[in-house]
Amino acid sequence: MKTDNIQSQMQDSPYIINQKNELIPLETLSLGNKSMQDQPTQIQQKDQVSQFNDQSQRFYAQKHDQEINHQTVPKNPKKIMSSWKASWHHRFIQYWQSIFNRRIVSFSCFALQIGDVFIFSAIVAFCCFACIEDKQAKSSGNMASILMAATIVFGCRNGLLSYFFGLSLERALIWHQLLAWATLVASLNHWFHSKRLLSGYIIQFPIIAFIFFSIKPVRRYLWELFMKMHWILIIVSIYGCIAHKVSYALFAFGYFIIDVCYRMYTIYMLSDVSKQIKLEKIGNNITKISMSSKNVNYKGGQYFFLMIPKISYLQWHPFSVFSASYEDEVVFYVKSLGDWTRELYKIAGEQGKPTILKGYLDGPYGYHSIGIEGDKYKHFLCISGGIGVTPIISTAKEILKQMEKGRPVNSLHFIWTGRDSAIVESVLKPDELRSLLNQDDSSILKNFYHYSDKGDKKIEDIEKQAQQEQQQLVQLSKGRPEFTKYFESAYNAAKESGESLVAVLTCGPQQLIDTAEINSMKWSKQGIRFDCHQEVFDF
Ligand SMILES: Cc1cc2nc3c(=O)[nH]c(=O)nc-3n(C[C@H](O)[C@H](O)[C@H](O)COP(=O)(O)OP(=O)(O)OC[C@H]3O[C@@H](n4cnc5c(N)ncnc54)[C@H](O)[C@@H]3O)c2cc1C
Repeated sequence: MKTDNIQSQMQDSPYIINQKNELIPLETLSLGNKSMQDQPTQIQQKDQVSQFNDQSQRFYAQKHDQEINHQTVPKNPKKIMSSWKASWHHRFIQYWQSIFNRRIVSFSCFALQIGDVFIFSAIVAFCCFACIEDKQAKSSGNMASILMAATIVFGCRNGLLSYFFGLSLERALIWHQLLAWATLVASLNHWFHSKRLLSGYIIQFPIIAFIFFSIKPVRRYLWELFMKMHWILIIVSIYGCIAHKVSYALFAFGYFIIDVCYRMYTIYMLSDVSKQIKLEKIGNNITKISMSSKNVNYKGGQYFFLMIPKISYLQWHPFSVFSASYEDEVVFYVKSLGDWTRELYKIAGEQGKPTILKGYLDGPYGYHSIGIEGDKYKHFLCISGGIGVTPIISTAKEILKQMEKGRPVNSLHFIWTGRDSAIVESVLKPDELRSLLNQDDSSILKNFYHYSDKGDKKIEDIEKQAQQEQQQLVQLSKGRPEFTKYFESAYNAAKESGESLVAVLTCGPQQLIDTAEINSMKWSKQGIRFDCHQEVFDF
């Protein structure tokens, strides 16, 4: 059957296309031995299926039965009774996270959480305690010292805060920046109330410089200088703190030095695997980085800092893992954006003929802001844009893999949107997630890729290639996704299975994150709650 015919017919009623490119009306398909009409739950779902059916959509299905299973949400999803249990460590973290990360108010770009109130109260309490001094010079100095100490603690990469409370580095860095401003105000206050000492100026200078470089446009534009300045200013600050006897800040610097030592230890421990890093060009602006995963412990969605001496000894860049922890290789996909990533692409070998060189890894870092480690969430909406797919697919793989051990998952909808044809063609292999599921569980997963025709290739070319490669079970659409449909579908799936929570995992451009956050708020109603974890690849 010709493609034009297929398209015109698809406009009217729900159809799927099999691998021979034949059009199959949904009603005529049988499910095992029973016809669709005998399946009340699935008939109900037909409308839902047709909602997704527009002219540009395609289904690549190997077996009709498989396709139908894939498109329906089981009314009574299988409750898996098995040995899978979240470890005590996960439960402990999850317990704190669930309290700490509970939202109080959500805005599209920021959510105020209980943890924020807790941190704020603790800092205010410390400051009040520090002010119990007769002399104003002393009390204002103590306050500045405590705020400086807190700034340093929140700037550390490894820490008790993240271990006990699941505070992500991204969120800790927001606190780091806010506290730096508070330190500046407190130190100016101290300056007004005390004698002018040279040691005081030595501390004041780096604080002002830090603040200047951290202003977003300056930081963005002068990122490398900002990072290098950090180290110089830290050394000046330590000297100033010793000379000025800023005790609280000195303790915090001690903590920072332990953090740096721990980082060096992890870099050393990973040096065996990172001495053979493979670099391959993917498409015209993506580099695949891969290495053995032996002795590399990480969780899906985490990220590492990477340094390649051939490019620069001083630059450590963060990249989220694309692979999952059970895989033999740690894989990253890097989009060329600025000097370092472009240089990386330049030195990479062609696809299939990688360049092998030495590098260094520091990590892993990053926590999901919602506790997905345990069995709290059984419905997942994984939304990513462009190269933001890396942490999301890694997390999705991890979740689906855990199903083998009995983790109960009722639905996982994976939605990617973007313009890079290389991502659809070479990064997002359609069977990557599906291969983790057995036949019985295949209805849990739905894959939707939205490719923008403003990209470097026409969607038709990508479809053609997909068909040639006999890709299966991915719904490829033109243009931007209509998120309302996906949220509605996840909402219905949660409702049908009697669950009250849906985890939304999202990474990509800010606009995509905002849309996901707004929809999470909108669809959190009538006993169903959408908890949103968001990443924007920016500190
Ligand atoms: C947690 C996290 C995970 C990421 N994962 C991926 C990924 O999987 N794939 C991918 O392609 N990109 C990822 N990025 C983005 C990637 O780190 C930047 O694109 C890259 O560092 C840009 O470096 P550049 O010198 O080429 O560009 P530049 O032009 O120098 O930088 C562009 C922007 O990237 C940011 N940036 C630059 N250097 C750093 C750095 N050392 N640390 C933090 N931010 C920096 C700054 O905001 C800067 O303005 C991630 C970023 C973060 C924060």
